[in-house]
Amino acid sequence: MAGFHILPITPALAEQVRSTLKSPQYGHPAHVALAAGYGPCRACLKQFRAGAEDRILFTFNPFQGLDEYPSPGPVFIHAKSCPTYDEPQSFPEELRSLPLTLEAYGEDRWIIARERPSTDEIESSVERLLHTSGVRYIHIRNTEAGCFIARIERNSGTAKNHG
Ligand SMILES: [Zn+2]
Repeated sequence: MAGFHILPITPALAEQVRSTLKSPQYGHPAHVALAAGYGPCRACLKQFRAGAEDRILFTFNPFQGLDEYPSPGPVFIHAKSCPTYDEPQSFPEELRSLPLTLEAYGEDRWIIARERPSTDEIESSVERLLHTSGVRYIHIRNTEAGCFIARIERNSGTAKNHG
């Protein structure tokens, strides 16, 4: 296995949302509300405790720095500061049980492959996608909502053609 790492939104971006209550990329007002669903939080990659935690909804373009063609969409983070996901070499446990679509992108953010792995097939699906010719990175998306959750990249080697 070549290995992979998970990239949530950056701590700087999350803190900017919390301090300004605006989308850092678009300036649209962010919205704070008690969590009505599981999320997950795009910073710590944990599910929200519905009815118990506040979350912030803001507009986010997950292709910034990767491609000039944006796809802004709604994402959630914890309203209170939370630790950024800190085990990037392993797939987040709290995402496992969610309906996930893995979208593998190549040059010009063209979708080269897409998989909807079952809970115990996630790692093998990620490895297969990252070994598919032309694939540069993977987006994890929620299959029900279509929303971006996090990005996955190869650990090293031949994939250093972006960043
Ligand atoms: Zn969080």
